[in-house]
Amino acid sequence: MSTSFERVRRRYETTEKKCPTCGYIDKEGNWTSETDGQQIVYHHTCPSCDTNREHTFTFTR
Ligand SMILES: [Zn+2]
Repeated sequence: MSTSFERVRRRYETTEKKCPTCGYIDKEGNWTSETDGQQIVYHHTCPSCDTNREHTFTFTR
């Protein structure tokens, strides 16, 4: 299960750095993630404009 998890995590840490609201690029890629094994929720708060972004993935086996 860690294979899909790692792939998704990397994708967010490397490609979803730019805030769609203000265009701020968060070089730190401060995504936080929570998972219960079935789904993973990514959350990011823009340090510039405080826009919250959230993405939920559900893993299917
Ligand atoms: Zn922003």
